[in-house]
Amino acid sequence: MSIIVQKFGGTSVATTEKILAAAHTAVRAQQQGHQVVMVVSAMGKNTDTLTALADEIMQQPPAREMDMLLSTGEQVSVALMAMAISSLGHKAISLTGAQIGIKTDNVFGKARIISISTDRMQKLLDDGNIVIAAGFQGIDDDFNITTLGRGGSDTTAVALAAVLGAECEIYTDVDGVYSADPRVVSDARWLSHTSYDEMLELASMGAGVMHSRSIEFAKKFSVPIHVRSSSSEATGTIISNISEDPNRAVSGTAVTFNEALITLSGVPDQPGSTNAIFASLAKANITVDMIVQDAGKLGKSNISFTVPSGDLQLTLEMIQPALGTLPVDRVSHRDDVSKISVVGMGMAVQSGVSNRMFRCLADQDVNIFMITTSQIKISALVAREQAELAIHTVHSKFQLEQASQPNRQAESPAITPIADSAAAANRLHDMEELSITDIGLDESQASISIEGIPDTPGVAATIFDATAEAGVVVDMIIQSYLDQDNIASITLTVPRDDVEKTVDVLQQLIGDFPGEQEILCNPAIAIVSVSGIGMRSHTGVALRMFQALSDVKINIEMMNTSEMRVSIVVDSDQARRAGQVLAQAFADVQH
Ligand code: ADP
Ligand code: ASP
Ligand code: MG
Repeated sequence: MSIIVQKFGGTSVATTEKILAAAHTAVRAQQQGHQVVMVVSAMGKNTDTLTALADEIMQQPPAREMDMLLSTGEQVSVALMAMAISSLGHKAISLTGAQIGIKTDNVFGKARIISISTDRMQKLLDDGNIVIAAGFQGIDDDFNITTLGRGGSDTTAVALAAVLGAECEIYTDVDGVYSADPRVVSDARWLSHTSYDEMLELASMGAGVMHSRSIEFAKKFSVPIHVRSSSSEATGTIISNISEDPNRAVSGTAVTFNEALITLSGVPDQPGSTNAIFASLAKANITVDMIVQDAGKLGKSNISFTVPSGDLQLTLEMIQPALGTLPVDRVSHRDDVSKISVVGMGMAVQSGVSNRMFRCLADQDVNIFMITTSQIKISALVAREQAELAIHTVHSKFQLEQASQPNRQAESPAITPIADSAAAANRLHDMEELSITDIGLDESQASISIEGIPDTPGVAATIFDATAEAGVVVDMIIQSYLDQDNIASITLTVPRDDVEKTVDVLQQLIGDFPGEQEILCNPAIAIVSVSGIGMRSHTGVALRMFQALSDVKINIEMMNTSEMRVSIVVDSDQARRAGQVLAQAFADVQH
């Protein structure tokens, strides 16, 4: 018999009426011939209420006790849901994470699932029960209750679907995934489909509709997800390996309002510098988001990175020991920035996307502090007070409110999960472990940096308008930020054959900029990249790369990170060696 996992988020179980409505949905699925596992979140804003209670007692409560407290929210919901189903005359049983056997590591507040046992659930299902699982929680080896991070019930649902070979439905307060958060952009468009890669980028860039780790699971175990409304019969969005329109340069946008930016200026440009800084942050499980290191001058470079605002103080504390042994000129930080991102499969094969984004922001006088790109994503850091304007502007520039060409492949979506018991058994091991699929070496690129450019709206747009007009396909772009002088530097990589042309174009441009600029060009670079699943949420990936390269004294000249790939630019003389040491460093998790 086929199994279906139905997850109901906080708003969908906010009242007893809504709990009863959800119970009806589950019973209907059972009557249609499915075995049903429900995953439920805490009622309404209960998790926030519990957090506020803890705050009334102390500033930074012990993490173990916080998880003990927060897990109670879901325990209330599962019990009420089981009662609701009984009241409809059907068999139901509620289970906590521990009772199901969701084993996690012991990182309280951000625990990762190690394994899930299916025996008990399967037996209860076979006995005719609707099984009601508490979302967002698990248990570590010492029987401590752990939680998976805010929004983590999605991850519970997808993980259960993965181990049970089940279909997965996520019931929420919107009828699917939109081209932007519909609460922020009122003309955001509903998407019939979105691919795992697009959703991973969107979710990790701030689209709160899905917990990003749930998408890592879905991709790793080929679980199609159906995101739909708990209050209407609307069709919903299918998240699978199919994109609604793979040719569309931009299919979705996301914004993270509360970002903090930290800049280390004058970092000695030597092997190991980066490693020392990020090692301390990974140890504290701080997810560093945008990381930008510029090309370096006179033996020193600047490193800027962003962290969620809530992690700023801890970040500043954690980098102190590294700074003791690493003489940097200056550490600055600001907590008034937001990150806006555009994501689309078509971006990987089209040029001229970045300049359109930068140009429309410049036209609205939005200054860009920092830029990072990946194959299917461009992120820009802007002042928080301009973030809403920025996201609206970008959304309409790429005409995201307008329908796509229908994707033929998507018309008959394959929503059949792989239900194979042998495969399911294999899934139980190290479920949420990092999985590396490829270590690549690209020696076809050259890097060009423009130093000393004015930090004013329109500069990035002018530069990338010009390169696009010259027909140059720019691969990596990073813009770093130095707040003390109001100057920035932009580094880009282009195909080696296009270096001269690009430098000519840039030389002409900078004549019109105020101040002194310098163009530095390095044709002898190589990009080494590590691709896989879980690249950003595993804080240690970039670190493992830095450590491996630092051990053999290879200097990192530039880098960018995304959900799918971490790329590092090194000197081309060292490229092969870099590839070898990275292969060794990731040998244990390569698939
Ligand atoms: P739940 O409690 O059901 O888990 P969430 O609040 O976590 O619900 O997620 C649903 C919310 O996600 C929506 O109300 C919407 O405001 C927000 N959201 C953010 N980005 C998007 C997007 N791209 N598409 C749809 N909803 C989005
Ligand atoms: N109740 C938890 C939260 O509010 C988990 C979830 O809803 O997904 O974050
Ligand atoms: Mg949610």
